[in-house]
Amino acid sequence: MSILVCGGAGYIGSHMVAELLENGEDVVVLDNFQKGHIDALLGGKLYVGDIRDRKILDKVFKENKIEAVIDFAADSLVGESVDNPLKYFENNVGGTVSLLQAMRDYGTKYIVFSSTAATYGEPENTPILESDKTFPTNPYGESKLTVEKILKWSDKAYGIKYTALRYFNAAGAHINGKIGEDHNPETHLIPLIFQAALKKREKIYIFGDDYKTPDGTCIRDYVHVSDLASAHLLALKRLRSGNESAIYNLGNGKGFSVKEVVEVTRKVTGLNIEAEIAERRAGDPAILIASSEKAIEELNWHPKFNSLETIIETAWKWQNSHRDGYGR
Ligand code: UDP
Repeated sequence: MSILVCGGAGYIGSHMVAELLENGEDVVVLDNFQKGHIDALLGGKLYVGDIRDRKILDKVFKENKIEAVIDFAADSLVGESVDNPLKYFENNVGGTVSLLQAMRDYGTKYIVFSSTAATYGEPENTPILESDKTFPTNPYGESKLTVEKILKWSDKAYGIKYTALRYFNAAGAHINGKIGEDHNPETHLIPLIFQAALKKREKIYIFGDDYKTPDGTCIRDYVHVSDLASAHLLALKRLRSGNESAIYNLGNGKGFSVKEVVEVTRKVTGLNIEAEIAERRAGDPAILIASSEKAIEELNWHPKFNSLETIIETAWKWQNSHRDGYGR
């Protein structure tokens, strides 16, 4: 029996593939390579195609016995989702619906779904609990929340058991130094700070310093990508043991401001990094910190790389040895 990783050549997906291979699982990858990188794949049986394409899904499900699906195939840029919401609903919602239809038709009973802290919108509590209200402030978060609801109804109707994992800020890179974060365009804080360190851009712009936080800049909960991957495997094992569908936050329960992240990156790289305060970015909540107590208790999840220094060190190790990312 195989685990199908959709979007397995992307940032988090490629770390998932590595985690599964390290744990002796049989891996099948489906990726359309719109954003994925072939060099990010450390193994597995690869199919190139889109989860919205029923023909390729039929091929994958016919040629392999798919026990479970781990679904990372999605668009994930908040700003782009505000400008082009239909792209997000078509790809993120339509894609997962297409995948669920195939799972239903071929009798695959487990799915671990890549969800997000953006499902909460402006949080009502810190740290955020899974039971807090979900009121997304952008189409990206709305698309993921919509899929969570679709998963609930698919469980009721077809018995497809799901685990939705709401990530906070994914960061870092595999300690083997072979895979890391390479987006084009890059919008995420830590890789952009590296670009400033490597003089690929003049400086890092800090989006707003007038938030209600101690230093005025936004606070986020950074979680290592390999710790996210290990949580998916634990979620899969929990489903295999016959447990019910569930939703978990994944974060370290500790927040760092943008200024703090810049400072730690200066320390880790030993390089001069110029920073300048800029306008706020639309749709950014001031503080997003997870309570991951539920994942710790029910999944027995113990993040290994839970200090910001370690997260940035692993990311830097990869970035410094892959100055052009995977190369274009
Ligand atoms: N950020 C920033 N400058 C940048 C990119 C991001 O100040 O060039 C801030 C952003 O406003 C947010 C934090 O860094 O508060 C993390 O942003 P990122 O895009 O990495 O992740 P997000 O929180 O949007 O998932």
